[in-house]
Amino acid sequence: MSEMTVAFMPERDVDLQPLNTLGVPVRAQFYCAVTNIQELRQALAWARSQHLPLLILGGGSNMVLPAVVDGLCIHLQLSGIEYRVVDEEWVNVTAAAGENWHAFVQDTLDHQAYGLENLALIPGTVGAAPIQNIGAYGVEVKDFLETVTAINRETGELVGFTNGQCLFDYRDSTFKTVLLDQYVIVSVTFRLRRTPAINIAYQALQDVLAQVAEPAPQDVFNAVVSIRSSKLPDPDRIANVGSFFKNPRVSAAQYQQLVTRYPNIVAYPEGEYKKLAAGWLIDQAGWKGYCNQKVGVHKEQALVLVNPTGSASTEILALAEQIQQDIRKKYGVSLEIEPRVY
Ligand code: FAD
Ligand code: NAP
Repeated sequence: MSEMTVAFMPERDVDLQPLNTLGVPVRAQFYCAVTNIQELRQALAWARSQHLPLLILGGGSNMVLPAVVDGLCIHLQLSGIEYRVVDEEWVNVTAAAGENWHAFVQDTLDHQAYGLENLALIPGTVGAAPIQNIGAYGVEVKDFLETVTAINRETGELVGFTNGQCLFDYRDSTFKTVLLDQYVIVSVTFRLRRTPAINIAYQALQDVLAQVAEPAPQDVFNAVVSIRSSKLPDPDRIANVGSFFKNPRVSAAQYQQLVTRYPNIVAYPEGEYKKLAAGWLIDQAGWKGYCNQKVGVHKEQALVLVNPTGSASTEILALAEQIQQDIRKKYGVSLEIEPRVY
């Protein structure tokens, strides 16, 4: 059946407040959920024919939306996971963009495919994972990503991107920069290990696993879930988008000046740079637990801004701006916002 033979009928004036984890009140001019590539192509073609802008929505856990989304919101709900053994060492796993990330990670472990365990409990979808090269506890998606398959928004053509072509960096990829808003990711293929090789470089993981003689990937997964549950707000209970700012990179010279003034500053080497823990800067500046009646800073994790009252994104962005100014004044360091602000 050709893609235009079935009438395409998006819903009008749809409430997106339940679909963004920051819980901001948002209405989409048009909305549709797509469960396969044909529906996605139809939706893209319709938006093009109407000259409408697009919002591609996964789990809504890394976006700051305005009160009104003009155009068509396409909610990706493509599903399916396939395993293909490559050789004795590796297995390739292809997951559709709409699969829930955390459930997918557990599924890989159930299939004895290892490597993603440190990325447990990250909200959102598989399709969004390459967008900002999600990372946690010393592992990033780029470490195990083989290819990304995406549809060109203009032509509807399916294109494959190798790991190198994705231009991955710290919380960054070509899909946020050079190719911003040009492709919709429909599936991601990972190359995972058939023999465990765990990574517990982060102190918090070592502490939790100290009593386990030979931790297996499932132990690491469980440890990550336990640590994250103890210090991060569950978006189903307190609206948030995770870390609101990236950890800033500074030069070795700037780090020397900072450490002289603040001997306890938390920083890690990153090539020729130092990566500062933004959470430490915000905490030391006195913002942790701050609340202005509408929005605030989480009491356990200073990098997370929370919106317990369902306020508009303008409130969150005003607070973010206050924090950025304060950190610039106190430390001479610029904080970059991590989620996509629309
Ligand atoms: P969305 O918010 O729906 O979309 C994010 C961006 O990607 C948007 O610009 C959207 O248009 C685009 N997009 C989504 N899907 C596609 C697609 N298929 N094709 C093209 N564009 C697409 N992030 C980390 O890196 N590490 C963490 O440890 C982490 N912890 C978090 C903890 C909490 C409590 C929360 C709320 C967030 C956390 N995040 C973390 C951020 C977030 O979970 C990730 O960025 C996640 O990948 C976003 O997925 P999503 O499906 O919700 O994306
Ligand atoms: P944490 O363990 O308290 O560490 C604080 C910061 O120091 C982290 O941001 C981390 O950087 C860095 N760090 C700690 N140990 C390190 C090491 N051995 N080598 C290099 N850097 C190290 O952090 P947390 O806040 O509880 O978060 C735990 C992990 O989950 C982190 O990796 C964090 O990025 C991730 N997380 C991300 C989000 C998000 O929305 N992006 C939200 C929650 C948690 P990195 O951030 O670069 O790892």
